[in-house]
Amino acid sequence: MKYKCRTCLTTCTDIIEHIKKVHGFSERYIEDSLKSNTNSYKNSFEIIK
Ligand SMILES: [Zn+2]
Repeated sequence: MKYKCRTCLTTCTDIIEHIKKVHGFSERYIEDSLKSNTNSYKNSFEIIK
């Protein structure tokens, strides 16, 4: 499964890795966001098969 980021328009295979490396989100911040909403980041990515 591949995902296309709606923000920077590049593709990746791992959303979490992408926002960590490309957008500089910290692991802590990501975990907190996922706890409050497990779909937090899915809306920012388009699924490419
Ligand atoms: Zn991106």
